Amino acid sequence: MNLHEYQAKEVFAGYGIPILEGKVAETPDEAADIARELGGPVVVKAQVHTGGRGKAGGVKLAADREEARVKAREILSLTIKGYPVHKVLVVPASEIKKEYYLGVTMDRGAKKPVIIASSAGGIDIEQVARETPEKIHRFHLDRPGSFRSYQARAVAFRIESDKKVALKIARVLEKLVQVYWGSDASLVEINPLVTTPDDEVLALDAKMVVDDSGLFRHPRLAAYREGEDKHMAAARKMGLSYVPLDGNIGCVVNGAGLAMATMDLIKHYGGEPANFLDIGGSSNPEKVTTAMEIILDDPKVKAIMFNIFGGITRCDDVARGILVALEKMEVNVPVVVRLTGTNEEEAREMLAKAPGVEPATTMDEAVKLALARVEAAPQR
Ligand code: GDP
Ligand code: MN
Repeated sequence: MNLHEYQAKEVFAGYGIPILEGKVAETPDEAADIARELGGPVVVKAQVHTGGRGKAGGVKLAADREEARVKAREILSLTIKGYPVHKVLVVPASEIKKEYYLGVTMDRGAKKPVIIASSAGGIDIEQVARETPEKIHRFHLDRPGSFRSYQARAVAFRIESDKKVALKIARVLEKLVQVYWGSDASLVEINPLVTTPDDEVLALDAKMVVDDSGLFRHPRLAAYREGEDKHMAAARKMGLSYVPLDGNIGCVVNGAGLAMATMDLIKHYGGEPANFLDIGGSSNPEKVTTAMEIILDDPKVKAIMFNIFGGITRCDDVARGILVALEKMEVNVPVVVRLTGTNEEEAREMLAKAPGVEPATTMDEAVKLALARVEAAPQR
């Protein structure tokens, strides 16, 4: 789960990382009121789940409340990388002497979290890595509590030689590492961490990605979940892994690996999957009905393809789910079903007379059949 900047800042502040306190507005008038309350110049910042807001015009300086109103109106009408802006954060503007980058993320290659620190903050860290890799410093972490103050200072001195400032950066870094472990985060990032002209150190931006599987341990973070796609919410409640995509073949598969392979094969034959969907190991028929409900609600879908490899998942349970779905809702697209493994004969028999359901034996056959049905489909 991605947190908004204002949410990540709340978390950071809770750990003692210095930020400038601001407030969130949903209308230009609210933004103006906050600017008046704060007094002095403010920065109005789009709250969307994507980076590069600055470049896209989503971060703007405003001298006073009237300007804050105007800038908020502009920003609230933007769509940044596909994300419409519904909220802005209004914070006191700060003067910047220097910008740094501090982040902690998972280094999958090393199988350890890694601190990334750079004196080239404020710009894309990917760009820094490409163009000036010598300005990027890494430090691997072992386990919660293993990171020591002297190590934090060693990292800080690589990006800042002034002792007083480096010590302040080191303290921020120690806290950032605590946020990372303490939140089951997969990324925590401050870009930029800045110094002000009087050498105060401040996190001007904050980014946090939390591992969904760890959210049950962090009810306060889970409460930040908002505006979740209704299909994703329904899928999550039912224990389905669902990711909507742009294509027109709805997929219902058991197992993430098989689901990926199914999507690959659809692409291989020139088709486009409408989604990734893993119904998981157990085969509660209700999961299948929910999966079909979610998929059929997507107007792009022209055919549904089941690819079930029965093991713990029993094919007859899946078939039962399909029959319930056919009874319960109007299924107005062809359903291609490939079931193999545990109880496949029963499943085939159950589905033999089901209207609109076409069996396939191999995965290859199923994908080709689904593609043929999509090509023949009338415009919905
Ligand atoms: P991002 O583009 O989505 O990463 O958004 P940021 O919050 O990082 O803002 C982009 C840039 O705007 C920063 O790198 C800063 O240079 C600038 N910026 C953000 N907040 C302030 C501020 O309070 N004062 C000043 N002067 N610049 C700011
Ligand atoms: Mn930033």
